[in-house]
Amino acid sequence: MGRILLLAAVLLLLLWLLRGRVWGRGRRGGDASADADSGGGSASAAGAAALPRDRRVLLQARVRLWRALPPVLQDRLLPRIEEFLARVPFIGAGGLTVNEDMRTIIAAQACLVTLGGEDAGFEALHGITLHPDEFVVEEADEDEETGVVTEGWRTLSGQSVDGERIVLSWRDVEEAEHRDDGYNVVIHEFTHFLEQTRPGGDPAAHKALEAAHEELCDAVDRGDDTLLDPYGAEDLTEFLAVAAEMFFSRPSDLRTHHPSLYGILRVSFALDPASWPGDTSADADHSL
Ligand SMILES: [Zn+2]
Repeated sequence: MGRILLLAAVLLLLLWLLRGRVWGRGRRGGDASADADSGGGSASAAGAAALPRDRRVLLQARVRLWRALPPVLQDRLLPRIEEFLARVPFIGAGGLTVNEDMRTIIAAQACLVTLGGEDAGFEALHGITLHPDEFVVEEADEDEETGVVTEGWRTLSGQSVDGERIVLSWRDVEEAEHRDDGYNVVIHEFTHFLEQTRPGGDPAAHKALEAAHEELCDAVDRGDDTLLDPYGAEDLTEFLAVAAEMFFSRPSDLRTHHPSLYGILRVSFALDPASWPGDTSADADHSL
């Protein structure tokens, strides 16, 4: 009798253990976005084969620049995203917990900036800090004429720090999906990052870029409405970043209104987004 009870108890225990394992595996595999953490790496409990398909679903739903890509470029971008996620650590700031969806959405747009090149070009990137919203940084401004340094604070939606670290506001990353003015903080900051880490380039292209920048400065001085964000008038570096945002977000509009600038960027990025069938520019809805 005692042995039967013991056997029954062992059987019950075994059944209970098996039930627990099946339940646990099902839950983890069913919701990749629940794997929230602030460390680096692409995580892989679901298995290497499942990840690219899941990423495609997520990117299709959440990233308009992904939807704009022809399939051949999506196929080229995907392994770059995996490599980026495996290499670049993300850190949540201001109480934000960074999850896999956030990492994927940012990585896809970062890798798009260098998709035309031979390699991803992010070897120097030490990490990405992600804030829930705009963040405040301390800044010192030196007056060129007097040399007087004024210290103060500035609110930012993104920052590329010393060619080593990118800081972003998650709210601004998400805004790129809803705004139709070309705004894209990820494209903006990663363009800065590339300029910081890969200086130089074609002198003729640089001259043409300067001319386009002057053109924007004049338009802003006249008070004209401009396709490019007037913030690009600040200096040549900001101009390039703002122009890159428009190049990827509203390529047809940029090509129509600034064909020579579009041509410079097409060569620099080695991409031609205005020719992509999924171009997300909406001709009728974008008035200048
Ligand atoms: Zn900038």
